[in-house]
Amino acid sequence: MDEEQKTLDMEGAVCPLPLSHGDRIVMGHGSGGRLSHELVEHLFLPPFDNPALRAGDDAGVVQLAPGSRLAISTDSHVVTPLFFPGGDIGRLAVCGTVNDVAMMGATPLYLAAGFILEEGLEATILQCVAASMQAAAKEAGVSIVAGDTKVVQKGRADGLYITTTGVGVIPSGVNIGGAQAQPGDRVIVSGTLGDHGIAVLAARGELGFQTEIESDVAPLNGLVSAMLSASPGVHVLRDPTRGGLATTLNEIARQSNVCILLDENSLPVKPGVRAACEMLGFDPLYVANEGKLIAIVSPREAQKVLDAMRAHRYGKDAVSVGEVQAVPSKRVLMKTAIGTTRVVDVLAGEMLPRIC
Ligand code: MG
Repeated sequence: MDEEQKTLDMEGAVCPLPLSHGDRIVMGHGSGGRLSHELVEHLFLPPFDNPALRAGDDAGVVQLAPGSRLAISTDSHVVTPLFFPGGDIGRLAVCGTVNDVAMMGATPLYLAAGFILEEGLEATILQCVAASMQAAAKEAGVSIVAGDTKVVQKGRADGLYITTTGVGVIPSGVNIGGAQAQPGDRVIVSGTLGDHGIAVLAARGELGFQTEIESDVAPLNGLVSAMLSASPGVHVLRDPTRGGLATTLNEIARQSNVCILLDENSLPVKPGVRAACEMLGFDPLYVANEGKLIAIVSPREAQKVLDAMRAHRYGKDAVSVGEVQAVPSKRVLMKTAIGTTRVVDVLAGEMLPRIC
């Protein structure tokens, strides 16, 4: 968008339709992939633009007073079904926001929760979801201190949607963000890829076969805290949720102006997830996770960080999956199992709608 158009937008005189899919929202705008990025870049950033938002990280970082920084994040949850193996919409709503705050190296402290309820929803379902939210909040060490409830007519929503907003304090000296990756850094993932997406699909009955796969949904702030205590060498943290590892690494490669080179042989994928992906034509690199993080770490500190991760329940399968290079910048490449190198792009369409 050029400067002149931007000025007009700010004055409300012109409302362009800058989306490549025309003048309507499509499901892909909720994918976390290319269309979601387009929506943010062309529709939300121009009117809301400020340094915290423009940084494009998992949470906005703001300064309250000199030396006192807060990370703030918000996330809406529309997963269907409401309950799935390993979790439910309530646990997801707490962990999703706790994790986005934690990915800035912040200690999450407080959450607010907004509920949109469909007329006719069974109160016992809401009770179960609230209990699950409280259990997850307790595990994460956060309190839910504000909330809101709205009810819409039957047929105007799908049971229950939850939006959570979280704040956390960034300890002094911690400076983590998507723009901090440096050539030579190691890329670590905290565990197996794609568990959440496949577990939700299985709960919908869309796999056509039985699987034992459970969602990995979990609060990661304890893991982050252990990593930061072990080493000052953590440069980037991000949770690969919608769009999966591939999309998240592309975001980091662009923010840091680097190339990320993955090693396919080292990617951790459970056999059940791999089998489901092969049957459905999915690539586990693009399937959502809700209890995993990517850490980009200085090479000297990588082993120390890995050891700290493996000692934590949510990082026991942590493994190094690649490294950061200078060129080709803003790209993710992968050394494949057969020895070739291929480009790993962002998620293009909408693979698994309403996964979180
Ligand atoms: Mg995130």
